[in-house]
Amino acid sequence: MLQTPVYIIDEKALIKNLEILGRVEKESGAHILLAQKAFSAFCVYPLIAKYISGVTASGLFEARLGAEEFRKENHVFSPAFSDSEMEELVQICDHISFNSLAQLEHHRPVWEKAQKEHDLGIGIRVNPEHSTQDAHAIYDPCASGSRLGVRLCDMPDEVPWGVDGLHFHTLCEQGFKPLLETFRVFEEKFQKYLMSGQIHWLNLGGGHHITREGYDVEGLISLVKEIRDKYNVTVYLEPGEAIALDAGDLDTTVMDIVNTDGLPVLILDASAACHMPDVLEMPYRPPLAGSGEIGEKAFGYRLSSRTCLAGDVIGDYSFDKEIRIGDRLTFKDMSIYSMVKNNTFNGMPLPDIALRHADGSEEVIRSFGYLDFKNRLS
Ligand SMILES: *Cc1c(COP(=O)(O)O)cnc(C)c1O
Repeated sequence: MLQTPVYIIDEKALIKNLEILGRVEKESGAHILLAQKAFSAFCVYPLIAKYISGVTASGLFEARLGAEEFRKENHVFSPAFSDSEMEELVQICDHISFNSLAQLEHHRPVWEKAQKEHDLGIGIRVNPEHSTQDAHAIYDPCASGSRLGVRLCDMPDEVPWGVDGLHFHTLCEQGFKPLLETFRVFEEKFQKYLMSGQIHWLNLGGGHHITREGYDVEGLISLVKEIRDKYNVTVYLEPGEAIALDAGDLDTTVMDIVNTDGLPVLILDASAACHMPDVLEMPYRPPLAGSGEIGEKAFGYRLSSRTCLAGDVIGDYSFDKEIRIGDRLTFKDMSIYSMVKNNTFNGMPLPDIALRHADGSEEVIRSFGYLDFKNRLS
């Protein structure tokens, strides 16, 4: 039995997702990229690389990881790059997308020189200014005041020399309809650039929940085909979540049970603040195996952790059986935005990272200790 706390990546569930994404690539001709900011478990990059075209990065470090461990197409976008980062990125990336014309021009001498030596796509991220989400405003790049993407009113009349691609990213955990709607708005606003003959690729960003039950995969395939035919461009999709959706657990042990004037509180060896920060940031209540809403089952508890943060609460859950100290609980869908966001606040130990192979066997890939805490401080 694996020691807790431990993230367990589920190979079988990952393969199930990858088969869907692989089919989208094959049938639509899209190139699918793993957005590493959601999931950077490079132990499974060779597996993922069998199904999709490459990775995308939010900056130099993720781009380096992609170059070292994925070894297929390597893309990067960031609102700003430093000079030294650009020197390195032009050597290891296939596409670089800029967030402003100022950044594009500032780095022009470096990327233009690299373009003469090898293939290097240069893109501009645009902002279609069309919101399709209201649930999570902090994840909406089209919200008023957004810094993400060049608005049509700030675009030059012609595609800047050397730019051969456009990029937009506006969705978060959404189905096909919002993509279609956004594409129609984008198409209307930015068509003259698409028709200029200078644009050879179009990146539709991430936030597509392609592997979620009920996603209109056929709709996506036909839209990609339509875009490719109409504008003669290579189409990229760069989902993060969809790659490892529902493909991992966070196992934790009940260390103590504290009585309060409300629900009894389970003190777990996992923490929302440290090990699943999206629970507090988004916020949301993560699924927990064998549990129900409060009142649904006989025994109700508040699940919390051993940090000092009073609000480090994961959520309220109920169970058929009374929970005892030493019991093990399993949070579901814990591969995405978990390992990449964890931290050692309060000197909390980081959970191990383990792999559940397709045959059911489990293997610890990495464990962390005191030095992982100490080495990022001084
Ligand atoms: C976050 C992000 C992604 C991935 O988003 P998911 O919601 O994980 O699919 C892709 N591209 C860009 C530019 C992003 O910021």
